[in-house]
Amino acid sequence: MSIVVVVGMQWGDEAKGKVVDYLAQDADYVVRYNGGNNAGHTVVIGDEVFKFHTVPVGVLNEGVTAVITDGVVFDPSVFVGELEGLRKRGITADRIKISGNAHVIMPYHRLLDRLEEEYKGNGKIGTTGRGIGPCYADKMSRTGIRVWDLVDLDRFRARLTQCLQQKNKIITSVYGADPLDEATIYEEYAPYAEVVRPYVCDTTTVLVEAARECANIVFEGAHGSLLDIDHGTYPFVTSSHCVSGGACVGTGVGPTAIDRVIGVAKAYTTRVGAGPCPTELKDAVGDRIRERGREYGTTTGRPRRCGWFDAVAVRYAARVNGVCSIALTLLDVLSGFDMVKICVAYSIDGKETTEFTTDVDALWRAVPIYEELPGWKEEITDARVFEDLPAAARRYVDRISKLVGVPICLVGVGPRRDQTIVLDGEVLQM
Ligand code: GDP
Repeated sequence: MSIVVVVGMQWGDEAKGKVVDYLAQDADYVVRYNGGNNAGHTVVIGDEVFKFHTVPVGVLNEGVTAVITDGVVFDPSVFVGELEGLRKRGITADRIKISGNAHVIMPYHRLLDRLEEEYKGNGKIGTTGRGIGPCYADKMSRTGIRVWDLVDLDRFRARLTQCLQQKNKIITSVYGADPLDEATIYEEYAPYAEVVRPYVCDTTTVLVEAARECANIVFEGAHGSLLDIDHGTYPFVTSSHCVSGGACVGTGVGPTAIDRVIGVAKAYTTRVGAGPCPTELKDAVGDRIRERGREYGTTTGRPRRCGWFDAVAVRYAARVNGVCSIALTLLDVLSGFDMVKICVAYSIDGKETTEFTTDVDALWRAVPIYEELPGWKEEITDARVFEDLPAAARRYVDRISKLVGVPICLVGVGPRRDQTIVLDGEVLQM
């Protein structure tokens, strides 16, 4: 029996979906603990591509219960759409559970997300505009609507009346936009309540019981550690706890129940949205990585900012997450370069440091110091064991492991489930 957290070690999009899918083959539960439908996971099985925003990736595996817990913000319109999509593809979604404590994303959250971003002008965060930040803000200020409220329509109507009065004042007086209509929102949301209701329960009790019965549980982190509200590059972060500790906060399962934390890192760096990214390459090398890695957002289609692997940032992520092993993904994207670079330190105001900083002002000024390694020309998408990789690729993987100070359990050489090299099967064993 194992309880494993899968967490992103960069700025999100590290291919956590593929790693979770790998583990889910032997799991009983796959659990989302943070974020909302601003996150997107892509899983490729054979020729079929599945994209998820709200439903945990584990739903693709028969016998796996997919759980959306308290720490997630939940957009019922997106959930209903995803459910419909899965049904059309013949995937039974009966084993989904949704926490009544999860907060519901409302139309005014989406509107305020957009209005707040416009108001910030040049200082905008680059949010996905899905209402995630405003929904979490309401949760913290104790003015949110929870899934329990949604599925009890009398309660929902009363909460909506109360909340919308205040939101409409902000929408009209602060931003000069048109108010939203209560009846329209109610009519849209009441049918969602009918679809969602059968899935709602106390997920903490379900998971704690499952842990007691020695179930295999995968906690599926959304986004990446450097986007964590506390431990990321604030304010250019998302509004939830993306780090592994968020799995406990978001699910109500205590830290002593967790056996392992697997960190997922790309073989290079990407970042979407605004904020510092020391190794970003605004040149042909960055463009080549973007095209080969198809680095366009699952949720928004936005081109991702690309650069060399940042060992300073990933070492920091290993520390804040307590990562015991790394899944290094998308190594195949780096084939064809004469040489590849790894950022081993920053120079900030002329001072060299190997420590990451979450003081964003300083991070903007960080100049990466690189180590150069020989590249490899061969395509590696058919490699299935470590020895299949060219010597230069093997050296690159080993060097990353050494610099980050954590062993590597898996290397990704393509999007498909089978395009995976396992280095440490024991860590990946549920
Ligand atoms: P997530 O949010 O961390 O799950 O990441 P995304 O799903 O947004 O992005 C990962 C993308 O890379 C998806 O399109 C995957 O199908 C793809 N992918 C996953 N692993 C690999 C890999 O090893 N090589 C390549 N080329 N693509 C991969």
